[in-house]
Amino acid sequence: MRRFPSPVQFLARLLAIVAALTMIAQPAAAQSILRDAETEALLSDMSAPLIEAAGLEPGNVDVVLVNDRSINAFVAGGQAVYIHTGLIEAADTAEEVQGVIAHELGHITGGHINRMHDGIGKATNISILSMLIGVAAALAGAGDAGMGIIAAGQQAAYGNFLAFTRVQEASADAAGAEYLSIAGISGRGSLEFFKKLQNLEFRYGRSQDDDATFSRTHPLSGDRIALLRETYIADPAWDQPADTELQARFERVKAKLYGYQADPRKTLQEFPETRTDIPARYARAYGYHKNAMIEEALEEANALLGSNPDDPYFLELKGQVLLESGRPAEAISPLRRATELSLSEPLIASMFGHALIATEDESHHAEAEQVLRAAVARDRLNPFAWYQLGVVYAAKGDMPRARLASAEQQVMSRQYGLAIRSAGFAEAGLPVGSPDWLRAQDIGLQARAELERLQERR
Ligand SMILES: [Zn+2]
Repeated sequence: MRRFPSPVQFLARLLAIVAALTMIAQPAAAQSILRDAETEALLSDMSAPLIEAAGLEPGNVDVVLVNDRSINAFVAGGQAVYIHTGLIEAADTAEEVQGVIAHELGHITGGHINRMHDGIGKATNISILSMLIGVAAALAGAGDAGMGIIAAGQQAAYGNFLAFTRVQEASADAAGAEYLSIAGISGRGSLEFFKKLQNLEFRYGRSQDDDATFSRTHPLSGDRIALLRETYIADPAWDQPADTELQARFERVKAKLYGYQADPRKTLQEFPETRTDIPARYARAYGYHKNAMIEEALEEANALLGSNPDDPYFLELKGQVLLESGRPAEAISPLRRATELSLSEPLIASMFGHALIATEDESHHAEAEQVLRAAVARDRLNPFAWYQLGVVYAAKGDMPRARLASAEQQVMSRQYGLAIRSAGFAEAGLPVGSPDWLRAQDIGLQARAELERLQERR
């Protein structure tokens, strides 16, 4: 994955300082989580009816995109479903992916993952929070904040190697079929996808280290597929037509991820310039951007905006290309609009905040502060936004709030010792009883409790 160097020197210096303060050991097999506002919104809308059908709280189940082009999906760390970008690439329809999500939810409700953890020890039972390895990862991804990469913990890598038993697979299949039925989603997509995986398996053989990891972690068999088919066909939802609006969004996201990940030459083969539809332009825009062909990328972004000037994700794309090619002042207008239209979607808002700061024009700091505060108010688990908020506070000379922002990042990245120090500094400098003062106290308490728990375990 290519990263785009940030042109801003002071930011780079700060990065070096903060990186030196943060000691983050990344496991060798670490994977990364891909964060993109449009993709997350799509996955959330695709999974919400299934999560509800499973009797779980939509807000408590995360669907997380893993930056890995092999075909896989798994559950880990309690209530989180991980989907590889490779699975989206291999799927042709949103329903195919929904079939996989339904099946994975079946592993969650069946308690399969917890049972595994019991056998392996509590150390692996970490929440999604621990995957948001704050500062260092966010900084490494500073160049592509819009589709930011965040290093995942061992947990995610680990989930790749878990294989469920046949009994667990059968129970997850049955549960998944029930959730699809309750949600009124046809099992056709699910069946298609499993057949696709089975074909891959025939082609490459199970023992080989091919791209179809899913069939290793979720052993497939002809019997399984036959039984699923029987269940699905008998269901009233079988003839339910696909949601065309969701499918159109899926095709956009799929093309965007392709352009973002594939070799740019391959992207141009897959989406030749003769194609002027939205997914093709989307894929090419990311492909050109990746290849530092800024004007071509902007041309595609402008063409997309020609078809819909108020699409927040097209505006985000244009802003991202400008920002990452060293034109932060020009990025401000599209990113401001994208932030407004997306009602301050936190990832978009943090990119906007980044652009404002990257202009090195202090007159933009007040707006940056306001935008970033709104972003963290909506999603506290956004280390990149906290980092930038810290930059703005430091530039203003507001060190207590700068340190409070650091404390937020540090506790998120499980750097409890640092978090205690930052929170203590912030608490000492903030007005007694103010919300920020209370927050500093809370972080200090939380970090101390976590430290104690870690020590007890040892
Ligand atoms: Zn499974």
